[in-house]
Amino acid sequence: MEITNLLLFVVEAVGYFALMVSLLHFRYRLGLGMFLTALGVMHFMETYLAAVFYVELPFGLASPGSSIFFTGKLMMILMLYLQEDAATVRQPIYGLFIGNLLTVGVAWVLQLHSTVVLPSGDAANVDFLKEMGWLMVWGTTLLYLDSIGIILLYERLGRYFRRRIVLRFMICGVVLLSFDQLGFFGGLHYFFGVPASAFWTGWIAKMFAVGIYTVLFAIYEIWIRRAGIAANARPIGDIFGDLTFRERYNDLLNRTGRDVLTGIYDRTRMEMDAPVMVHDALRQGQFATVLILDADHFKDVNDRFGHLQGDQVLKAIATRLGMMLRATDRVFRFGGEEFVAVCPGTDHEEGLLLAERLRWAIATSVSTPDGAPVTVSVGVATADEDGLNFTNILSAADDRLYQAKKSGRNCVVGRSGLVKLATA
Ligand code: GH3
Ligand code: MG
Ligand code: MG
Repeated sequence: MEITNLLLFVVEAVGYFALMVSLLHFRYRLGLGMFLTALGVMHFMETYLAAVFYVELPFGLASPGSSIFFTGKLMMILMLYLQEDAATVRQPIYGLFIGNLLTVGVAWVLQLHSTVVLPSGDAANVDFLKEMGWLMVWGTTLLYLDSIGIILLYERLGRYFRRRIVLRFMICGVVLLSFDQLGFFGGLHYFFGVPASAFWTGWIAKMFAVGIYTVLFAIYEIWIRRAGIAANARPIGDIFGDLTFRERYNDLLNRTGRDVLTGIYDRTRMEMDAPVMVHDALRQGQFATVLILDADHFKDVNDRFGHLQGDQVLKAIATRLGMMLRATDRVFRFGGEEFVAVCPGTDHEEGLLLAERLRWAIATSVSTPDGAPVTVSVGVATADEDGLNFTNILSAADDRLYQAKKSGRNCVVGRSGLVKLATA
C-alpha cells in the first residue's frame, strides 16, 4: 500500500515534469502563455491537495500537493529563469501572487450567497473555501519568497560551482523547500490542525520530490546539452532588481530628469540624487566633493552671437564635463550656464585638481564661433569639513564661485582661496 503510494508519487512527478517541461521547451512554438497558464492552474489543485489529501508513505503521511506539485512548481520557476531571464520569471511570480489574492477576495464575497443543496446531496462548503483561501495567501506569500530566493541562491552558487548546474539545481531545491516546509507547515498546523509529526514526513516527501526532479532535470539538461553553458555574469543585485520591477523604475528614472538642451541630468534630478550620493559617501567614511561651475561673461556670448550659438557653447561645455568625470561622479545642469558636479570618494585636494583640469580643458577646447576661448569659474567644497549635507556643501561651493568671479574669472576657488597651480 505504502509502496504503491510512493510509486504513484513518482508517476505524478514524472508526468508533471514531462508535461510542464514540454510546454517550457516548446514555448516559442506554443507561446509562453501555455506554460504559464498550466503553472497557474495547478496551483489551485496543489493547495486543495495540501489541505485535505494525505496518503501513507513508507516514511509517514504526506500530500502530493505540497510535495510533488508544489516542489515541481518551484523547480519550474527556476527552470523558466534558466531558459529565459528574471524579467520573464517575474510574470508568474507576480501573477500567482495577485491571482491568489483575488481568489481569497472572491471566497469572501461567495460567503454572502445563500447556496442550495443539490439533488445529489452535495452542498457548498463555504467555510472550507474561506480557509483554503487563507492557506493560499500564505502559500503564495511563501512561494513569492521561495521563487526569488531560489533564483538568487542559484546565482550565488554559480560562484562556487559555475558549470555544475544540476548540483546547483539540487542544492537550491533542498534549501528553499526546507525553508518553505517550515513556513507552510506552520500554516497547515494553524488552519487545519495538521499534527507536528507531519512536518518531518512532509519535509522528507519534499526532499524525495527534489530528488526525482533533479534526476529528471539532469536527463533534460543532457538531452538539450545545456551542461557547460557559462554562468550568468550579471550581478545578483541586478537580478533582484528585475524580479522586483526596480529595473523598470530605474529605466524610467534614467530617461526622465534629463536636460533637453545638453542631455545631462537636470536640477530636479540633482535634488533627488546629489543628497543621496553625499550621504552614501559619508556613511562609507569617504569624502564627497561638490564643484559648481559658471560660464564667464556668458551674456556677452549670447549678445554677440545669439542664443542659438550660445546654446551650442553650453552643449560643448556639458559634453566636456561628461567626458572628464569618472563613472562614479555625476554632473547636473544647475541653471542657465551653471553646472554642478558631485564627486563621491574625492577629497578636497583631489577636488581642486579635478576643478583645475576641468577649467583648463574647457578654456582650451570650447570656444565661441569667432574662436575666442570660453572660460568657467569654479567653486569647490568638500564634505565633511564644509558641511554634512549636500545643500550646505553646495552653498559653500557657491560662495567660493562668487569669490572666483571677483578674483577675475577663469579660476578655481577652494577652502583656502584661489587655487594657483604650477601647471595652470
Ligand atoms: P559671469 O557669470 O561671468 O558673471 O557673467 P555672465 O554673463 O555669465 O552672468 P549672468 O549669470 O548674469 O548671465 C548668464 C547668462 O546665461 C544669461 C543668459 O542669457 C545666459 N543663459 C542662461 N541659460 C541659457 C541657455 O539655455 N542658452 C543660452 N544661449 N544662454 C543662456
Ligand atoms: Mg550664472
Ligand atoms: Mg556666468
